Amino acid sequence: MNCIFCKIIEGEIPSQKVYEDEKVIAFNDINPVAPYHILVVPKKHYESIIDINENEMEIVSHIHNVINKIASEKGFDKDGFRIINNCGNDGGQEVKHLHYHVLAGKKLPLYEA
Ligand code: C5P
Repeated sequence: MNCIFCKIIEGEIPSQKVYEDEKVIAFNDINPVAPYHILVVPKKHYESIIDINENEMEIVSHIHNVINKIASEKGFDKDGFRIINNCGNDGGQEVKHLHYHVLAGKKLPLYEA
């Protein structure tokens, strides 16, 4: 499968890792739009949130736990942050491997629809 995030997970493409466990990896976005711009990615390949069935939703709560951990470690838990999941073409998803953007480190502008 020609998936750039699978290649990052396999270590075939380098990344600036900030967290890893058996289920997820988190790394700095190569094109940051905020002082902190971290991607949290399940190691199992799901194209998007739509591909996760009810029985597999545990991975999503795990991702949120990991985001909380990273926020505390980096210290942006106090001032807050934004989690974004782009889903599909209309949602602006470019990389078709489920991932959550975590943006922090400045007062973020309201997003546009
Ligand atoms: O949600 P979306 O699919 O649009 O976001 C993909 C993100 O993956 C982009 O923010 C892009 O900068 C990031 N990316 C990355 N490292 C790569 C390829 C893409 O951080 N090697």
